[in-house]
Amino acid sequence: MEILHDDIVSLALPYRETLRVQRTSFVGGGGPRVAVIAGIHGDELEGLFVCHRLAAWLEQLAASHPHALRGRVDLVPAINPLGIDTLERFVPVFDADLNRNFPGDAEGLLPQRIAAGAMAALSGAALVIDIHASNIYLREIPQVRIAEDFAATLVPLAQGMNLDLIWLHGAVTVLEATIAHSLNSTGTPCLVVEMGVGMRITPAFTEQLLIGIVNVWRTLGVLAPDLELPPPTHTPLVADDSNVHYLNAATSGLFVPDIEHWMAVRREQTLGRIVSPLHGGTLAAVRSPVDGILFTLREYPAVYEGSLMARIMAV
Ligand SMILES: [Zn+2]
Repeated sequence: MEILHDDIVSLALPYRETLRVQRTSFVGGGGPRVAVIAGIHGDELEGLFVCHRLAAWLEQLAASHPHALRGRVDLVPAINPLGIDTLERFVPVFDADLNRNFPGDAEGLLPQRIAAGAMAALSGAALVIDIHASNIYLREIPQVRIAEDFAATLVPLAQGMNLDLIWLHGAVTVLEATIAHSLNSTGTPCLVVEMGVGMRITPAFTEQLLIGIVNVWRTLGVLAPDLELPPPTHTPLVADDSNVHYLNAATSGLFVPDIEHWMAVRREQTLGRIVSPLHGGTLAAVRSPVDGILFTLREYPAVYEGSLMARIMAV
């Protein structure tokens, strides 16, 4: 196994600085190529830690089973390096969401050039995994989000990823300028993983996802079929636009949950309350509209009328 380091994008910036989107490649035999990308939103760090753990796992594999990597693994942990450096979700200065600039333009503005470089580097892979970490407001259980148009290809792959949830999105909710849509619509399968919370890492979720990723790699022939791996421990539920319920704040205040994330809840059960810092009463009780499982829970306590506090999948 060979371990290579290079840049998939290198652009001159003012003041003699260079923007580099770095890649680590683990090259075994001539089998399929797969990739993991992270940090497209600069405030989402969970995927950077997943890349670190995958790199450690592959480095150990090189020592213990030097011939077990039959294909090639590319890790691109920081696809929006300026955003990560400045703790910003978007590309600084351009104030652009990098994940709304695909497939990009090699002659365009900086975000479009990064997008074009990423498309060139990732197209043709057997599988790209794009890891997101929600935002600073909401905590998510490990899940994959799939546009219904690509469900036939992606759901079987997602089933093996050791996740808790597969969320199928209808055509109207799909954003077409994302990296996942651009890759999937040009024949490169791309799974979007959401997990954890912005600006944090959740090591237990990382280990859960790592088991899923290496098992899927083995299924795809990237790893030797006889390589022993820890078996998946999670079987995903499948949500779609018909069984997901959104809980939005009825009023502004501080949201204080009474329940834990990823819990079964009953219809009319109190999930928390919205309180005011100015007096001792409760402004609003937050109750579940259905029997189900709470898979999104607000992490950031301040809410305004309409703020999302939770998502529940009816079961
Ligand atoms: Zn994101």
